[in-house]
Amino acid sequence: MAKIQAIRGMNDILPEQTPVWQFVEDTVRKVLSQYGYQEIRMPIVEQTELFKRSIGEVTDIVEKEMYTFDDRNGDSLTLRPEGTAGCVRAAEEHGLLFNQTRRLWYTGPMFRHERPQKGRYRQFHQIGVECFGMAGPDIDAELLVLTARLWKELGLAGHTRLEINSIGTSEARKVYRQALVEYLNQYKSDLDADSQRRLQSNPLRILDSKDPSTREILAGAPKLDSYLDEESRAHFDRLRKLLDAAGIAYTVNPALVRGLDYYGKTVFEWITDSLGAQGTVCAGGRYDGLVEQLGGKPTRAVGFAMGLERLILLLETLDLVPAHVNSDADVYVTAMGEGAMAPALALAEELRVALPEAVVVSHCGGGSFKSQMKKADKSGARYAVILGENEVANGTAGLKPLRSDEPQRELTWKELAPALAEALKN
Ligand code: ATP
Ligand code: MG
Repeated sequence: MAKIQAIRGMNDILPEQTPVWQFVEDTVRKVLSQYGYQEIRMPIVEQTELFKRSIGEVTDIVEKEMYTFDDRNGDSLTLRPEGTAGCVRAAEEHGLLFNQTRRLWYTGPMFRHERPQKGRYRQFHQIGVECFGMAGPDIDAELLVLTARLWKELGLAGHTRLEINSIGTSEARKVYRQALVEYLNQYKSDLDADSQRRLQSNPLRILDSKDPSTREILAGAPKLDSYLDEESRAHFDRLRKLLDAAGIAYTVNPALVRGLDYYGKTVFEWITDSLGAQGTVCAGGRYDGLVEQLGGKPTRAVGFAMGLERLILLLETLDLVPAHVNSDADVYVTAMGEGAMAPALALAEELRVALPEAVVVSHCGGGSFKSQMKKADKSGARYAVILGENEVANGTAGLKPLRSDEPQRELTWKELAPALAEALKN
């Protein structure tokens, strides 16, 4: 019978890969908690309406990328394509936003029916950060300082660059949109097919078209920049000053618009040039209107999401995964003979209590001395503890270095943990 395989674009993360995932997740978690951010966990499935109302009906995500289905009650549900909408829904539903500021983060799988390729999958993972109740550019700046700090902790500083832009309020964008459509309509037949379609649905997205002839036409197009409202302009200027003061380098990219409808004012992307077309590792911006749009009180908000697959791909591509991440076993405890089995399990447990940092692997499954030593070697452990029925009778164990020529030593159980602690230091 044919074997059943995983769904295209949805990846297993294998034991060889989980250490680097854990390294990234642990590092992000540590940095976020240092900045006072609280974790929130939302369901993976939400009502379809939530995404339509927030991300926007005529965005790529809602038009063609969502996994939407009717459940057994006939309700239309969707596997979340991103986390912001669900986070706002949850925060509102539980009164987290009333008269207070919030700094929240979450992580988990997201689902989009895109064409799978390097750095682009149908199930992928994000860590998202959302801040509520803060109007000023200082929180925008904090988010960028925080991400810059993250790159440093991950060893990626210098491998990502920051692009920022302001896309103004939705009123300002409406006026600009009209001017842009008027201009582009004169060249309609020379635009690429996607851009022609977007002329009706989402003209601002044409700004980041990669098509050469469209790009040429765009060179003469009206600039969003000159349509910005006064408040957005001032917000952006203050943000730039804060970034300059914090020593965060950036470029202003006037074509940066983002693909989700809820953004306004500040938008930004952290980009790497080492991953080809899928180079955006972290993206976000302000969305001051979304909470109200979803039925809440007007609440200022700003956030970002980073793609874990892309960050991990970047670490691996640049060979920047720290050596300690893929650490093997430290100690391998053997058990020669039936009578040594129970004592070996007990001894291994004693070692784990005494050496909380060490990885202590018990040999299970019996076998000859030779086959157990082979397994010990393969485990990558630096030391084997040898326990046979004789040692059990004497209350001792053999301590055998596996990666050096030092001789094996015979120690009492009491001596073993301190000896290992000393030995594992170097
Ligand atoms: P892109 O321009 O690459 O399609 P996006 O604008 O759709 O990205 P967002 O919705 O802002 O991206 O998501 C934030 C981040 O999540 C992206 O910068 C990227 O790192 C990651 N991401 C988005 N879609 C995918 C995907 N299909 N597979 C893997 N990572 C993804
Ligand atoms: Mg996309």
